[in-house]
Order: sequence, then C-alpha cells, then structure tokens
Amino acid sequence: MLNLVLFGPPGAGKGTQADFLIEKFKLAHISTGDLLRSQIAAKTELGIEAKGYMDKGFLAPDSIVIGMIKSILQENKKANGYIFDGFPRTVEQARALDVILNENGTPVSGMLCLCVEKEELINRLLHRGKTSGRSDDHDVSIIENRIRIYNEKTKPLIEFYAAQNKFFKIDGVGSVKDIAHRVIETVGSL
Ligand code: AMP
Repeated sequence: MLNLVLFGPPGAGKGTQADFLIEKFKLAHISTGDLLRSQIAAKTELGIEAKGYMDKGFLAPDSIVIGMIKSILQENKKANGYIFDGFPRTVEQARALDVILNENGTPVSGMLCLCVEKEELINRLLHRGKTSGRSDDHDVSIIENRIRIYNEKTKPLIEFYAAQNKFFKIDGVGSVKDIAHRVIETVGSL
C-alpha cells in the first residue's frame, strides 16, 4: 500500500501534483483543506469553528483535523493507498497519523516536499485568488500569515520525516509537467 504525504508551503502546487499522482497510482486523495471547505459550505458546527481560523490564515485546531482524518480513513478502508494533501501540518498531527496508519499496518511510505521560494508563492496565490474564490488567497497579509505559520508549525515536520528516512525534497519550480515527472520518479523510487 502506497501512503504519500504531499508536503510544502501554501501555493507550492500540492493539489495540482496530487491530481497526477491519483491518476498514476490510483490513490484516494485526502485534502484537509478541501474537507474543511466542504464543512464550511455545509455550515456544520465544525465548519463554522474552522472558518474563523482559516479566514485569518491560521491552522484549524489539531483535534478537529485529526478527528476528520480518522473518519475519512474509516470510510475509505478499501483504497489502494492515500495521498495526504495539506496534512499533517503539525507534529501532533504527524504523530496521530503514524498511530492511525500503524494500527492498520500500512505506514507512511514517503513525504514528498515541494520546494518553492516565498516571492513565487505569494505571486502564485494572488493569481489563484482571482479564480479560486478562496477568501484566504486574496489578501497579501493573510497569505504572509499562512507562510509564517507554515514555517513555524509545519516545517518542523521535515525533521520528523527525515528521522524516519521518509523525507524527499522535490524542486517545485518549472512547468507543471516537469514537476509531475520529478514527483512520479521519486514515488517510483520508494
Ligand atoms: P489548504 O487548502 O491546504 O491550503 O488549507 C486551507 C486552510 O485550511 C489552511 O490555511 C488552514 O487554515 C486549514 N487547514 C487545512 N489543512 C489543515 C491541517 N492539516 N491542519 C490545520 N489546518 C488546516
């Protein structure tokens, strides 16, 4: 079973690359950002709570996100494997994911980190904001907050996965196809 963590700062291209991996390896796509946005659209209690954090560029609480992951994995037990996109984002989430997957005997195969410089990220997100309809892609100060939070809370996961020999760095700049080629080549080597 192939379980991939697609990692990188906001705007690194995780969602785009996830699409290539899904097609190539027939994996179930689990994006916590998408799951939270659908909770917001459905106006659930969880969505209303998460929205307050997301609109300002902060992370939703670990308890909400980990609970969501547990139930989605429960619902998708027959998948070939999973692509986790935008999850984990904190060390607590990464530890919880290890516990859940180890219980099933199917650990994380590798963490693929898409590397992109800050200026390029801001330009990409502002550009995406014109069509995505995402309120957190419009405002430079919110985007900068998301990148700051990534550096503070999420980047330490590089060490977490490196310590397990599961960290793979991929250059996230260039054409979408070239990046997809690098990603698929890395997955092929796992
Ligand atoms: P994304 O679509 O992955 O860029 O996520 C959009 C927003 O959803 C983030 O800025 C966070 O506020 C929230 N979010 C998504 N995934 C997580 C997560 N794993 N932990 C906490 N918050 C998350």
